[in-house]
Amino acid sequence: MKVLCILYDDPKGGMPKNYPLSELPKLDKYPDGQALPTPKNIDYTPGELLGCVSGELGLRKFLESNGHELVVTSDKDGENCTADKELVDADVVISQPFWPFYLTKERIANAKNLKMAVTAGIGSDHVDLQAAMDNGIDVVEVTYCNSRSVAEHIVMMILSLVRDYHNQHRIVNEGGWNIADAVQRSYDVEGMHIGTVAAGRIGLDALRKMKPFDVHLHYFDRHRLPDSVEKELNLTFHESVESLVAVCDVVTINCPLHPETENLFDEVLINKMKKGAYIVNTARGKICDREAIAKALESGQLSGYAGDVWFPQPAPNDHIWRTMPHHGMTPHTSGTSLSAQARYAAGVREILECFFEGKPIREEYTIVKDGNLAGTGAHSYSKGSATSGSEEAAKYKKM
Ligand code: NAD
Repeated sequence: MKVLCILYDDPKGGMPKNYPLSELPKLDKYPDGQALPTPKNIDYTPGELLGCVSGELGLRKFLESNGHELVVTSDKDGENCTADKELVDADVVISQPFWPFYLTKERIANAKNLKMAVTAGIGSDHVDLQAAMDNGIDVVEVTYCNSRSVAEHIVMMILSLVRDYHNQHRIVNEGGWNIADAVQRSYDVEGMHIGTVAAGRIGLDALRKMKPFDVHLHYFDRHRLPDSVEKELNLTFHESVESLVAVCDVVTINCPLHPETENLFDEVLINKMKKGAYIVNTARGKICDREAIAKALESGQLSGYAGDVWFPQPAPNDHIWRTMPHHGMTPHTSGTSLSAQARYAAGVREILECFFEGKPIREEYTIVKDGNLAGTGAHSYSKGSATSGSEEAAKYKKM
C-alpha cells in the first residue's frame, strides 16, 4: 500500500546532532486510565525530532520492510504541490495539525484509493469530515497523545498574559530597566475567574493544573462532567458559552473545530465577555474571528490573546494575529513537543499495525468509521466540514 505522510520542514540548520535531554520521563498511563500507544515495536529513540520530513515519524523501516511505499513531503499547498500529485494513488494519508494537509472535498474526490486519513496528533478538522463520511474514508487520530502537553501550554499562556511576561522579557532583551513600563499591565491570577469552553481531555487537565493558583474555576461543555469532578475542583458549570464568558477574567478554548464551533468567538460573543478579559485559544484558530479578536485588543475589550493555533496554517505572513497588540502567540507547537512526538509517532505506528493486519483500531482513536462519526468523533465532533478557506495557506512564504 502507499502511505503519504505530510510533515513540517526540517530545522533550517539541519537535523539536530544532539538534544538537551538524554531521555524522556517514563509515563505509565493517561490520567483516566487509558493506555499509552501500544505499537509492537518502534524504530526511533523517544525524544528525537520525528514530526519533520527527515524524522518521518519513525515509520520508514516498518513500512518498507512490510512491502509498503512511504512518501514524505512538506510541500502541501498551492497548485501542483507534491502532496496533491502523490495523493492520487495513496491508500493512507498521515498529516499533523501543526502543518495540516487540508483534505478538502475536492482533494478527496481526486483520491480514489484513499481508505484512511490518520491525524498524527489530535484534531481532525483539516479533513472534510463530511466528504470522508460520504466517500467511506475512515478518519482516526491519536487521542490523548498531546492533550496534557497542550494543557501545560495553556497554563504557561494564562500566566504569561496576565502577568505580561512578553512585555517584560522584551524590555530585558532591549537592555531596559523601566519597572513602571514593565508592570503597568501586570496582575496576579490569584482570585480570578478562569473558564474553559469544553472540558474534555485538555480542558479538564487545564482546570486541574490551574486549581493550585487559588482561582475560581468554570466550564461549559455539551457533556457535563461527573458530580465528583465538579466537587473536587469546586467547578461552576454553565449552560451556555454566553453565561461563562460574562463572568470569567480568563477564557480558555478547548473544543474541537467543527461546524458548531466555527467562528464561535465572533464580535457579538466577544462583546458579551467581561471587559478586559483574556483569551487563550490552543484549540483551533477558526473558532475565533480573526478581525474581531484584533479589534477587541485595540479597543481594550480584550486585555490579551494567546494561543498557538491559526487559520489557515501556515498562517500567511501578513496574518493580523502576528502584529496585533497584547498577543502571546506561538506557531502551532503546544502539541508537538519532543515528548508529544514520541507518543503520537507510537500511536500512528499502532494504528498502521492494526490497519495492515485487519485488526480493529481503538474506539477512542476513531473519528469517522464506515461512513459515520464514531468513537471520539461521535462524542466530540459534529457532521459537516470546517475546511473552507484553507487554500489561503498557499500565501505563506518561507522566511
Ligand atoms: P476531547 O475529545 O477530549 O474533548 C473535546 C471536548 O469538546 C468534549 O468534552 C466535547 O464534549 C467538547 N465539545 C465539542 N463540541 C462542543 C461544543 N459545540 N460546545 C461545547 N463543548 C464542545 O479532545 P481534547 O484532547 O481535549 O482536544 C480538544 C481539541 O483541542 C482538539 O479537537 C484540537 O482541536 C485541539 N488540540 C490542539 C492541540 C495543539 O497542539 N494546539 C493539540 C491537541 C488538541
